[in-house]
Amino acid sequence: MEKVLSTVKCVAGFKENTIMTDMYCVKCKKKVTVDDKNVKREMTVKGRPMLRAICPQCGTKMTKFTK
Ligand SMILES: [Zn+2]
Repeated sequence: MEKVLSTVKCVAGFKENTIMTDMYCVKCKKKVTVDDKNVKREMTVKGRPMLRAICPQCGTKMTKFTK
C-alpha cells in the first residue's frame, strides 16, 4: 500500500515540472507529445500565432496554429 502511494506522488511531481504540448506529425500520422521547452512560438506573415516543433520520433518539422 505504501509503495502505491509513493508512486502516485512521483508521477504528480513530474507533471508539475514538465509542460507537454500535443502536436500532429504528418510523417508519423499521429499525435506526438513534445516537451514545451522544444516548442517555438512564432507568428505567420498574416499575424496568426503558431507553434513550431520537431517531432521527437522522426525529426520532421511540425507546425500548429493556435487560436
Ligand atoms: Zn514524426
